[in-house]
Amino acid sequence: MARILITGGAGFIGSHLCESFLKRGDQVVCVDNVSTGSRENIAAFSSNSRFAMVDQDVTRFIQVDGPLDMVLHFASPASPVDYMEMPIQTLKVGSLGTHNALGLAKAKEAIFFLASTSEVYGDPLVRPQREDYWGNVNPIGPRGVYDEAKRFAEAMTMAYHRYHGLNTRIVRIFNTYGPRMRMRDGRVVPNFITQALKGEALTAYGKGTQTRSFCYIDDLVRGIHRLLEADYHLPVNMGNPYEMTVLDFAKKIIELTGSSSSIEFHPLPQDDPQVRQPDISKARELLGWEPLVPLEEGLQATIEYFRSKLEAAQ
Ligand code: UDP
Repeated sequence: MARILITGGAGFIGSHLCESFLKRGDQVVCVDNVSTGSRENIAAFSSNSRFAMVDQDVTRFIQVDGPLDMVLHFASPASPVDYMEMPIQTLKVGSLGTHNALGLAKAKEAIFFLASTSEVYGDPLVRPQREDYWGNVNPIGPRGVYDEAKRFAEAMTMAYHRYHGLNTRIVRIFNTYGPRMRMRDGRVVPNFITQALKGEALTAYGKGTQTRSFCYIDDLVRGIHRLLEADYHLPVNMGNPYEMTVLDFAKKIIELTGSSSSIEFHPLPQDDPQVRQPDISKARELLGWEPLVPLEEGLQATIEYFRSKLEAAQ
C-alpha cells in the first residue's frame, strides 16, 4: 500500500485520481482549498478510512506527518474564465504551489508528478504539437497567467530533478472532459452541454473554426498511472488526437442531447489558441498508452452527469 498526496484532489481530474488510487488499495491525502474544486467531487469516498482531506491553499507551506510515496501536483484553476478571474492565485499556485509540492516530495523522498498543460504551447504555430515544440506564448496576455505559471512549474520540476536528483514526471494534459467538471466552469464542454440541456443557444466563440481535441477522463487517469510507473522525467503529452472545430463540436452536442438549441456566435477571447492537437507518439511508444474511449461514448456519460446535476438543482 502506497501513500499518495494529491494537491487539487477535490478538482475534476484530482478527484478521479484520488478515486483510482483508493480503488487500488492505496492511502490518499487530498490537499485542496476548494476554490475551483468541490466537496461533492470527493463525497463518494470521503468517509473511506484510507482517505484524508486537508483544507489548505498549497501556496502556503504544506505540512504532512508520516511518509509519502508520491506527490501529485494538480492544484490550479484550469478554465480560462477561472484563471482570468483569479490571475494572481493562478500564478501563485503554479509557482509557489509547485515549489512547496516539490519541497515536500524532496523531504519525503517521494516521486513528484506535475500536471502541466497543452497551454505551454500557447497559440501553436505547428500542428500537431510534439513535446519538443517550445511554444508560442504571449507572456503578458490574459492567458499568460496560466501558461507562464505552468511553464515555470515545468522549469522548476526539471531543476529539482537535475539539481536534487528528485524522481519527477511531467504530463502535458490536453483538453480533458467528463463527469465532475463544474457546470458553470466556462469551458466549452460544460458550457455547451448545459446550454443544450437547457434549450439555450450554444455560445460559439469567434467563427467556431478553432480546433480542439477532447480526451475522456478515464483515458487520462489510465495514462497518468502508466507514466507514474515509467522511469521517465521529460514531459509527455496526453490527450486525444481526434481533432475537431468548435462549431462541429457544438453540432455534435446538439445531436447527442437531442436538443433544439441554436448556435450563436460571440467574440473570440484574446489569444484563444487557433489549433490544438496532441502528438501522442511518445506516450504510445514509451507507455503503450493511447485513448480508448470514443468521443460519443465519453460525451454520453458526461451528458448524463450534467443532466442529473441540472435535475437535482431544480
Ligand atoms: N469556447 C466556445 N464557447 C464557449 C466556451 C469555449 O466557443 O462557451 C471555445 C473557446 O474559445 C476555445 C474552445 O472552445 O476555442 C475551448 O475552450 P475551453 O474554455 O474549453 O478551453 P481551452 O481549450 O481554450 O483552454
